[in-house]
Amino acid sequence: MKILRLILGDQLNIKHSWFKEPNDNVVYCLFEMRQETDYVTHHIQKVIGFFGAMRQFSEDLKDKGHHVVYYKINNSENTQSLTDNLLKVLEKHNIETFEYLEPDEYRLHQQLIEFCKTIDIQHSVSSTEHFYTNRNDLKTFFKGKKQYLMENFYRDMRKKHDILMHAGQPEGGKWNYDKSNRNRWKGDVDIPTYKLFKNNVDAVILDIEQSKIKTIGKFDTKTFSYPITRKQALEQLKYFCEALLIHFGDYQDAMHTDEVYLFHSRLSFAMNVKLISAKDVVKTVLNYYRKHGEDISISQVEGFIRQVIGWREYMRGMYWALMPGFKNENQLNNKNKLPDFFWTGNTKMNCLKQAITNSLDNGYAHHIQRLMITGNYALLTETHPDEVDKWYLGIYVDAVEWVQITNTRGMSQFSDGGKIATKPYVSSASYISKMSNYCDNCHYNKSKKTEYNACPFNSLYWNFLDSKRPELQNNFRMKMMYSVLDKMKAPDLAKLKERAQHIIAHQDEY
Ligand code: FAD
Ligand code: SF4
Repeated sequence: MKILRLILGDQLNIKHSWFKEPNDNVVYCLFEMRQETDYVTHHIQKVIGFFGAMRQFSEDLKDKGHHVVYYKINNSENTQSLTDNLLKVLEKHNIETFEYLEPDEYRLHQQLIEFCKTIDIQHSVSSTEHFYTNRNDLKTFFKGKKQYLMENFYRDMRKKHDILMHAGQPEGGKWNYDKSNRNRWKGDVDIPTYKLFKNNVDAVILDIEQSKIKTIGKFDTKTFSYPITRKQALEQLKYFCEALLIHFGDYQDAMHTDEVYLFHSRLSFAMNVKLISAKDVVKTVLNYYRKHGEDISISQVEGFIRQVIGWREYMRGMYWALMPGFKNENQLNNKNKLPDFFWTGNTKMNCLKQAITNSLDNGYAHHIQRLMITGNYALLTETHPDEVDKWYLGIYVDAVEWVQITNTRGMSQFSDGGKIATKPYVSSASYISKMSNYCDNCHYNKSKKTEYNACPFNSLYWNFLDSKRPELQNNFRMKMMYSVLDKMKAPDLAKLKERAQHIIAHQDEY
């Protein structure tokens, strides 16, 4: 019985039970494809990262004695389509059974279901053995509930997996240390040098160039800095525990002009392509904390664990609970386009310049830059969520749809009307200046509202609340903001709206 097993580009889990023993009857296949490089314009570093990690993974499989068919992007046999490539390999190797792993993306899930209907050999699908939860666990957990609150799911995960628990209660007495995770970084605590890998990716770049794949962003460093093997991912994780965990929670939401990564782990790419699993990460962090608990406070550890077993698993569950309809949600009826400066960083608004430049240079921005700078601006300027999704799905090395769209369309753009976020994440300059030093050297004045040099976020904020009143004013968490708006004098609001409308109509001039 000859078996073909498909490995998608984000299924590089060498610890999967498939790979326990080499078997001469099993052929594994991996394909670099235009189908995947062209469905959105990706950051150059994202394409390099995926191809680099896939090539390395295929070599690792061969070293372990497995049979592998690997189509590089410019391989002459490559049809550039997943199903056509599969048909080729099925025929060439006289395959009698086709097996694949659950795709994390709805698009590929559908494509493979349809494909299996067209082949007359046995086929089956297995788990990727990567996540804590199964695809539909979250849907079951929230069945019959009005709201899908992350916090309820997170607490259940802590109990179920006995993570940071003590005699049935949360360790340290609290479930959540969110309030101590909101410090501004002022340079008082040193940030260790980042661990940047120096992966030689010359061959990958040459193939990308020869194939004329359209990309965005920069790649100036010549070597690729994110982990592309399991060994590197584990090294990155070790470095995070030893050097960064100690202040992770404290400065989780901070932003600074001199710092790209602060105390963030840079593990999302490695996790999303499954070089390491959520369990690997949680286990290692907890072990480190148990050994060095006297130096590290629980708020750092809880802050990190919440991101991994809370937000990450929650977003995946929400994706499968809400797709495919979620992809078309636009409950705030936003229609505008993103300005050109999202692709150049060429704006006088310093916060946006910093967050966009980080994204273009490194394929990276941390969650507050994504949520409260670029996402906040896109929502305040009433940008169509399709536009916003396209940018986020392209620009980040870690952008895969299940975690990108839930964070972007749901959490950041409130397009689902509050299924993921309980309120829209919008702010004026006050939040940005509280969490960063961006306003210190900005062309605009954070305290002014309607003057020629007033921070654009200030007028955009009030204009947004006013224009989205029908959709938002009954939201309990927005009550305070609407009561401030209600007290505003009509001529003052009119001036704010006039400036906001000008900004929206002339975004690339600001
Ligand atoms: P750290 O800050 O060190 O966090 C540790 C890990 O926790 C991350 O590696 C990630 O796996 C997980 N995590 C943290 N926050 C989230 C979150 N909100 N949702 C899910 N997992 C989380 N993350 C992606 O992996 N891919 C995306 O395409 C993506 N798009 C986003 C879009 C928006 C608008 C927002 C607000 C967030 C998005 N995130 C996305 C979540 C988060 O920004 C990134 O996971 C994080 O910045 C990656 O950097 P890091 O590994 O240094 O994370
Ligand atoms: Fe951003 Fe406004 Fe601050 Fe400038 S003043 S950095 S535009 S928030």
